[in-house]
Amino acid sequence: MATKEDYYDVLGVGKDASDDEIKKAYRKLSKKYHPDINKAPDAEQKFKDITEAYEVLSDSQKRAAYDNYGHAGVDGSYGQQGGFGGGGQGFDGFGDFSDIFSQMFGGGGARQQVDPTAPRQGQDLDYTLNLKFEEAIFGKKTNITYTRSETCHTCNGNGAEPGTKVETCPKCHGAGYMTVERQSMLGVIRQQFTCDQCNGRGVIIPTPCHTCQGKGVNDEQHSVEVTVPAGIDNGQQIRLSGQGEAGANGGPYGDLYLVFRVAPSKEFLREGSTIYSNQNISFAQASLGDEIHVNTVHGKVELRIPAGTQPGTKFKLRGKGVPSLRGNSTGDQEVTVNVVIPNKLNKEQKDALVDYVKASGESVEPQEKNFFEKMKDKLK
Ligand SMILES: [Zn+2]
Ligand SMILES: [Zn+2]
Repeated sequence: MATKEDYYDVLGVGKDASDDEIKKAYRKLSKKYHPDINKAPDAEQKFKDITEAYEVLSDSQKRAAYDNYGHAGVDGSYGQQGGFGGGGQGFDGFGDFSDIFSQMFGGGGARQQVDPTAPRQGQDLDYTLNLKFEEAIFGKKTNITYTRSETCHTCNGNGAEPGTKVETCPKCHGAGYMTVERQSMLGVIRQQFTCDQCNGRGVIIPTPCHTCQGKGVNDEQHSVEVTVPAGIDNGQQIRLSGQGEAGANGGPYGDLYLVFRVAPSKEFLREGSTIYSNQNISFAQASLGDEIHVNTVHGKVELRIPAGTQPGTKFKLRGKGVPSLRGNSTGDQEVTVNVVIPNKLNKEQKDALVDYVKASGESVEPQEKNFFEKMKDKLK
């Protein structure tokens, strides 16, 4: 294999050149050697070399790989992202290294290295909002306050004290990791380690922001107005876009998932949009019929009990249930009547019932007097 010229030499920059310097050098040289402009016989090759050098040195990952092990590090003949690179391509065509096995830090798979300086969305957060039974039915507006990380207002999130700069890590050139190679019987084994100079961030901050100590974010109390939709049910959730944690490197905020916990009611049971309730009526009301008032979440409403209503009869109160979340309909309330048998009767009531029994042609053996009544009779 022909010895390739050093990429830094091709661009005429130093090993510690900044991204900007590399870009400038490339622009200058590519103009000079562009085949459309430069008709010298070696101009085309020179232009290709410049482009190749720039492609490597302008990419922080490739540049780190190149710095670590030269042209082999950026040679396309083996899988740079680890795993059993090359696969079905056979054993011809690997470049300067016979890296049949290349191994990623943390083991197998073609895990993609992410650029640590790329913008990333912040974490999502959960918030449990407790509601009273009626609040879930009618909805409400409320403010919730919670702690979340927010982009630092002093440094706008880059972590550097205002007036100072964030610098690309000189050790890993912004990749955030270093690759180490060693020879083994099976070939070259590559391992990646988090860069110890920048702790994987790819950048270093010579003068950290005094507010966030270089983190770029601060934990802050955050308030947001929440509109609880009418008809929400226990366990349902809504997503509030952008109300989660601050993103990294200028990425967007995460989302907030608002989970609703609805308290039960003593009086009502809810299933979806239907509300269930029980209503006591007397034996006389059930027999003779009546107009009664029953409680609903929408207030008291009249219910006509027809004569001869049996215990357990269900009545439907249309539109007295829960509104649908879409707002186009409202459920019903179902009332189950319970006929109450009095557990104590005064003399008048007893006599009336005895008359009732006689009128019905029934024969009822009146219950024996209890112990105290017998005693009273004796004492008379
Ligand atoms: Zn800051
Ligand atoms: Zn580093």
